[in-house]
Amino acid sequence: MKRSRSAGQWLRRHVTDPYVREARAAGYRSRAAFKLIEIDRRDHLLRAGACVVDLGAAPGSWSQVAAARVGATGRVIAIDLLPVAPLPGVHILRADATSRAGREAIEALLPAAGADLVLSDMAPNLSGVAASDQARSAELVEAALAFASGALRRGGDLLVKLFQGPEFTRLRGESSAAFDRVMVRKPGASRDASAELYLLCRGKREDRAVAV
Ligand code: SAM
Repeated sequence: MKRSRSAGQWLRRHVTDPYVREARAAGYRSRAAFKLIEIDRRDHLLRAGACVVDLGAAPGSWSQVAAARVGATGRVIAIDLLPVAPLPGVHILRADATSRAGREAIEALLPAAGADLVLSDMAPNLSGVAASDQARSAELVEAALAFASGALRRGGDLLVKLFQGPEFTRLRGESSAAFDRVMVRKPGASRDASAELYLLCRGKREDRAVAV
């Protein structure tokens, strides 16, 4: 079968990528693990005993990192549209995190106080058309913000992926209204060519408002 030029470029980049090699050596399911590890090293998000919700978790490398950091006294709840193979210490749900059924399934696993940290690495299937990819990413950021307002305890944190685009300023503003501090992170493991960024939202202002 003839391989397309972009598939060939992806393969070349994949086999020469140091993060791919490191992920394999460390037993992580994807190089994305290093994005969370790097942000956590700088910002100290993951704490022993914490309850962490991982939205858009497949194949599961962020959940692997989170489960190791929160330890046996913590809890990690992972959700994705795609299957995630079992991981020790992680409750795995297969559902749309933006749907009522998905939110209810997560809510049933949360402690009464709520989650300490919501992670969202959710990304749409990229079409290559920047405007539509940015718009669909913005919808996922909105969904993560709405979810966090119900699930996070007061003082909790949210780390959410978004693609740079015209919605950036509005989404940052919405986040700033709900959290004490909002910072932008672009970890080294996030490819320069990728428009992805992470908003790190710290210190949720309100108590949780559960509305599944
Ligand atoms: N953080 C993951 C890791 O470390 O393995 C990688 C996540 S991957 C970049 C993005 C994921 O978001 C995909 O698996 C996709 O299925 C998921 N996703 C996109 N929209 C979603 C939705 N509405 N509900 C649940 N998952 C979603």
